[in-house]
Amino acid sequence: MTDWLALAKTHESDMFELIEQLVLIESPTSDKPANDHISSIAADLLRTLGAEVKVHPQKDFGDHITADWPATNPDSNAQHALIVGHLDTVWPHGTLERMGFYEEDGRLYGPGVLDMKAGIATTIIGLRTLKENGLWPDRPIKILFNTDEEVGSPSSSPLVEESAKGAEYALIMEPGQAGAGALKTQRKGLGEFHLSVEGKASHAGAFPERGASAIHELAHRIIELQAMNDWPNGITINTGLITGGSARNTIPAAAEAVIDVRVRTNEQAEILETKIRALKPSIEGTSLTITGSFHRPPMERTPELAELAGNLIDWSNDFGFELTEESTGGGSDANLTAAMGVPSADGLGSKGQNPHAEGENIEISEQVNRLALFMKAINSL
Ligand SMILES: [Zn+2]
Repeated sequence: MTDWLALAKTHESDMFELIEQLVLIESPTSDKPANDHISSIAADLLRTLGAEVKVHPQKDFGDHITADWPATNPDSNAQHALIVGHLDTVWPHGTLERMGFYEEDGRLYGPGVLDMKAGIATTIIGLRTLKENGLWPDRPIKILFNTDEEVGSPSSSPLVEESAKGAEYALIMEPGQAGAGALKTQRKGLGEFHLSVEGKASHAGAFPERGASAIHELAHRIIELQAMNDWPNGITINTGLITGGSARNTIPAAAEAVIDVRVRTNEQAEILETKIRALKPSIEGTSLTITGSFHRPPMERTPELAELAGNLIDWSNDFGFELTEESTGGGSDANLTAAMGVPSADGLGSKGQNPHAEGENIEISEQVNRLALFMKAINSL
């Protein structure tokens, strides 16, 4: 029987060294050379572990990388384990100098340490430790590290989906929910819709009967839309932006609204999209154009996903740490892997505070637990 926590402890200094090395390379999403640099460092480390590393060149972002290890037994037809992480951060250059990288009261502070350089380092050191100790699993393993997650993975989404195809399970090494560090087992799906109304301009005082107010029409549709909110069931609809009109005394010929829609299930997404697309104008002389879609599918808490999370929680308890699960309204690459039907455990990477905010940090003792958990998962699942 492997003592996973003890094994993790003997390799924690390697992990914290790599965390430091990665945090000291600032990698804001918008900086391609910086992200190319950090992705080439990660690629080199993965090659030393015997992976076949592919670089996926990008024009507007840093290059994404994938790393593959075949099944140890060539006759095996086991499905692969997928590990996903991102190398970019939300922090602009210069943040490191201002915020610093330091340890205080059992926590490690630095820009991007929590989201998610600790998760990247844990993945690499975890795999290395498994390899060195003869604990590598039979099944194939695939890693995807992208560089555009913080802006919604616009260029890497197809690669995330491709990598998830046929996977047995996916570990998304993002930080756990801020605070308790909980696994995120349910993520909302996210859609954006635009309502454009065309009306007819006219002098508001002299010839009101000749006009058709686009703003008046839009107001009706906004009320209709807002009424679709169903917070108890996880549906949130927000008309977040409106524009329209040309002058106080002119009946407005155009108006537009931008709507944020979030749902808990695919079924809700389908029903809502149908309802939104079916909106009809009620003010005579106006017409309505509806564009947009759901661009991030919901991550539903399927029985398979619940079982995967349950295993991780049980093992964490065995190691003497408390791990919980929560749902969140935000999205991540886990939405994409889960939508491919792959049970996805998101939030395994680290536990800490203040993601995307001043004082971003990870809890040092918990990071050793996360290393142990990651190794146990890859070895045993
Ligand atoms: Zn992240």
